[in-house]
Amino acid sequence: MQSKSPAAVTFRPGRRLEILDDPNFDPYLTKEKFAEPTVCRGCGAVYHVGHWQWQTGTAPIDAQQVVCPACRRIAEDFPAGFVTIDGPFALKSRQELLNLVRHVEGHERAEHPLKRIMAIDEQADRLIITTTDIHLARQIGEALEHAYRGELDFHYNKEEYLLRVHWHR
Ligand SMILES: [Zn+2]
Repeated sequence: MQSKSPAAVTFRPGRRLEILDDPNFDPYLTKEKFAEPTVCRGCGAVYHVGHWQWQTGTAPIDAQQVVCPACRRIAEDFPAGFVTIDGPFALKSRQELLNLVRHVEGHERAEHPLKRIMAIDEQADRLIITTTDIHLARQIGEALEHAYRGELDFHYNKEEYLLRVHWHR
């Protein structure tokens, strides 16, 4: 899969992003049904009843080993979400904003192994955060808007299953 510029389709924040709730769009979520138990050899997440979960207790010895979608995205450097943060307030408050971003990720990741930040690129005039999951990118944007107002925009490319989030203040 090659990354291309997403189509310029703009969605306003809010419930209009319901389309993102259909997991079938994500090419990294294979239709393949894994045997159970199956465990990710990268992060230790366990595939259970069609979902990836953090395992509680020790992994069964006979577990099939695969690489989960999040670890594959990380290995292939192929993010699903891009969050760009810019503007004078954002740059002045970048540490505070990044604390919030990491808090959102920590909260989501604790429940959902496939929701992870891949990288935080701190540039002079912007911060760019990449994620393994489009929902996490949306949640980061919404958390920033909730905490600091500002301007929030989503650009969703359905074909590429790619969400670009832009928050400006
Ligand atoms: Zn994994």
